[in-house]
Amino acid sequence: MKVKVLQNILSANDKIAAENRQMLDSQTVLAIDVMSSPGAGKTSLILRTIERLRDAVRIAVIEGDIASSIDADRIGKEGVVVIQINTGGQCHLDANMLHQGLQNLQLADIDLLFVENVGNLICPAELKLGTQKRMMLLSVPEGDDKPRKYPLMFTEVEVIVVNKIDLLPYTDFDFDSFQRAVTGLNPDVKIFRVSCKTGEGIEEWLSWLKSELGK
Ligand code: MG
Ligand code: ZN
Repeated sequence: MKVKVLQNILSANDKIAAENRQMLDSQTVLAIDVMSSPGAGKTSLILRTIERLRDAVRIAVIEGDIASSIDADRIGKEGVVVIQINTGGQCHLDANMLHQGLQNLQLADIDLLFVENVGNLICPAELKLGTQKRMMLLSVPEGDDKPRKYPLMFTEVEVIVVNKIDLLPYTDFDFDSFQRAVTGLNPDVKIFRVSCKTGEGIEEWLSWLKSELGK
């Protein structure tokens, strides 16, 4: 019985996700669901991207947080459109929340929409929002064993950004073993290595993004 209830919730979510996808596609907005555990650097990567692409690409951000508007305030300072969604305790965004966010945006004026999910490696993986792309960040201090502990997240995404690579010399993060674990789960996934702090690897991330945007 419990299983049945969960399936109903998921299929209701998927229905709204499909509507979201149609709204985004019809206005040629590329939307990316950005997931990670708290503190991996989602907001920092979004800020780096805005800094570099703002002249060529019209960017908007939807910020999902349990509480506060700290991240939205950081992004709003850059002069891009940002919508804060406070989930009121819920540890993930769902398709209905994104739907409300989309209704408050001028989609015709947006090329790229980042949807920064609540920091959490579990339920965001289960709940599709309707974005064309799903990505996750993993930061080096979290360790290279996360694909084995949270396999669904690593299976569900098209893109993985490993952030804070400037810290590699101070940890025993084994990149080869990480990559083996990830490609075992998800052979087609794209993996980028970046440091939002030093800027290393950001070029590769940006050129992937630009090619997805057809720029
Ligand atoms: Mg953030
Ligand atoms: Zn949750």
